[in-house]
Amino acid sequence: MKDSNSKIPDQKELEKELNEYLGKKYGDRIRLVVPMLFPKPQAEEGSKDEKESGEKKRKIQFDLKPEELEAFLNDYIIRQDEAKEILATKICTHFNRIKFTEMRQGKTRYEGVGHIKNNILMVGPTGVGKTYLIKLIAKKIGVPFVKGDATKFSETGYVGGDVEDLVRDLVYEANGDIEMAQYGIIYIDEIDKIASSNHTIGPDVSRTGVQRALLKPMEETEVDLKVPHDPISQLEAIEQYRRTGKKEKRTINTKHILFIMSGAFNGLEEIIKRRLNREGIGFGAEIRSKDERAEYLKQVKAEDLIAFGFESEFIGRLPVTAIFEKLEVEDLYGILKNPNNPIILGKKKDFKSYGIDIQFEDEALYELAVKAYEEKTGARGLVSAVEKVLLKFEKRLPSTGIRQFVVTREVVRNPEQELQNLLQDPLHPERVARFERLLERERNELKASILRREGEFRKRYGTAFPESRIDLIARRMVDKGFDVNTVFEEVVEVERQVEEFERNFQVRNGIQLQFETEALDRIIEMALEENTRGQLICSRLLKDYEHGMKLIRDRIGHKEFVITREAIDDPEGYLNRVIQEAYSRRFDFESEGKR
Ligand code: ADP
Repeated sequence: MKDSNSKIPDQKELEKELNEYLGKKYGDRIRLVVPMLFPKPQAEEGSKDEKESGEKKRKIQFDLKPEELEAFLNDYIIRQDEAKEILATKICTHFNRIKFTEMRQGKTRYEGVGHIKNNILMVGPTGVGKTYLIKLIAKKIGVPFVKGDATKFSETGYVGGDVEDLVRDLVYEANGDIEMAQYGIIYIDEIDKIASSNHTIGPDVSRTGVQRALLKPMEETEVDLKVPHDPISQLEAIEQYRRTGKKEKRTINTKHILFIMSGAFNGLEEIIKRRLNREGIGFGAEIRSKDERAEYLKQVKAEDLIAFGFESEFIGRLPVTAIFEKLEVEDLYGILKNPNNPIILGKKKDFKSYGIDIQFEDEALYELAVKAYEEKTGARGLVSAVEKVLLKFEKRLPSTGIRQFVVTREVVRNPEQELQNLLQDPLHPERVARFERLLERERNELKASILRREGEFRKRYGTAFPESRIDLIARRMVDKGFDVNTVFEEVVEVERQVEEFERNFQVRNGIQLQFETEALDRIIEMALEENTRGQLICSRLLKDYEHGMKLIRDRIGHKEFVITREAIDDPEGYLNRVIQEAYSRRFDFESEGKR
């Protein structure tokens, strides 16, 4: 071995040495191809990294208000009003609080001792929207999200490791961005399975152990990013060093990581009922609601959860509870009817990927809801119900010339027979008319529902939406199978790009452009269709005009141009007209002057 004073080889030498070694060991079969083992020069003081971190903080929506988040959730989640309210509020507050304490003037404020994070406990059966809701929130706020299962913690036998794995997974979800990961959300399902039961001895020890192991991460702890002996994390460390020239930060702090636990908690309602009776509230007999269990659960207190088998320290770190209700057939039908629901949208996209358009009749959706309800897995049953009915269609139709079909009640009841009927006579006029009617209705319903809520969207996106733009949005939702917020965000982004183009155009040429609504609609449509930026479409469209406009500006002093729909569809005609108008106005002006 060389002594430590010997010269450290440069990259070329190192590569050569290693290749010689590999050559000896494996012959020519293996060669080392390392693009660059050494770091790029250290980033300049206070430059890119700081900018990136500022950028990151802007990407997280710390400023969201509870009612905005709740309204957003209402677009996707059926029922669960109380849970939506609680989660929207507490999660918004969590992030606003981080901003308040950490980011004011870039200084860390003194938080005091014993700050309690708004970690949340969700109680409710499977398939009622718990995961969906948290995923939607994480996406909206722009923070990474991971989901784990509490039963896995006890099975592995070594306590603590798995929770830390989830924390590390957040870094992965944040594309390696540790700072971003520190604002993430960790969701742990089946938490009721780590409650100790008073009758057994063996497993209880480990269950309580798992609860204990969760205490620290739920509050604040440093989690080592590198798993010892894991070659992947070692390689990642090298890669990080190469990219940034900095030694990787080795730990991730869980102070701001929000923990959300959930479970069905069967039997908890009995504990609550007994307590209420003991307290002489006599509440039990009066409950006559559809979901009696949920009514009891809404009364839950820490002591009930302790009686259920949780340590008081554990419950103490879950100050917020949200109860999710069981979904009835009508609710499942509501989910399928919701134009933003991923189940129907997803299925439409599956077919669309083969160039096939499908439409669902209301009666078919209701029938699917009934089938799903029988499976007793909440809305999860919807996915399997839809799959079961359409699988044979999905297999057969792509090999035929059939490009559209309607899922009717008959299709749901008897898919195989209906598939045969469709194959025999795909273009039956009645069939085609039925499809067209449904497509038209879908567009109209969507448009009407967005029009009704124009005020809400105006507030949400800070801009008004004329009817023609809403028409465009509804059409795009139907054609592409996108949900309402996705399309609104796309549209608003292109509008912003066009505004930026206007500003730059003004700076460059001293000419103020004004796009008429219809022209802007067309530009948005083109940008979305071509999946490109608004500026690009504008500069392409105005390429031929810029020169003409400048001429008019110089000769006549005309500095404002209205871009009409005609300007886009018939550039030459438009330019001629503008020139004529500009000159005739000047002529009028001159003859006025002479008179
Ligand atoms: P869980 O409550 O078990 O976490 P999920 O949130 O994973 O259930 O629900 C499964 C799927 O069912 C979701 O992805 C969503 O498409 C649908 N879903 C469940 N509940 C609702 C609901 N209340 N509103 C709309 N869709 C729902």
